[in-house]
Amino acid sequence: MRSAVSLEGDGGGKFRRVTGDTPRSVRPMPRGAAPTAIIWRGLTGRCGRCGSRGIFDSWFRLRERCPRCGYRFEREEGAFTGVWLVNYAFGLLPFLALITWLILTLAAGDDVAVMPLLIAAAALALVMPVVTYPLAKSTWASLDLAMRPLDPVEEAEATLHATDEGEDQPR
Ligand SMILES: [Zn+2]
Repeated sequence: MRSAVSLEGDGGGKFRRVTGDTPRSVRPMPRGAAPTAIIWRGLTGRCGRCGSRGIFDSWFRLRERCPRCGYRFEREEGAFTGVWLVNYAFGLLPFLALITWLILTLAAGDDVAVMPLLIAAAALALVMPVVTYPLAKSTWASLDLAMRPLDPVEEAEATLHATDEGEDQPR
């Protein structure tokens, strides 16, 4: 068990007092988060490593590193090739929901105007990838992190780039 008061590094060689009731996620260098927690952070557009927001420069531009913990999202050249797969899955979900609803409604014997639904489905297929693109990127990065924890070199690099910028998130 942790003592009530402990010292923690800020990554820059300095230490500060941290009281025992400091929420886990606002500590400077969170370690050992459960894979589900890491993936959830990505799904909600946050850094998989520390949970910080503010990881996007704009809607389409994920920053190279988390402004808070220094985690490099694209860990090696080409590491983001799976983003399209996640984005495709995001786009497919509402489409499948619509089709499922259509099949169930038709099976129940109700009349359905199919044409407007097809137009809605086509619109979804066009719009969803744009809407979900940033989340696909942060989700892919967090999936990568959940499956492959940072090696010591990456940890050290992240520490070098870590700042206290970025927003603390309670969860
Ligand atoms: Zn971070």
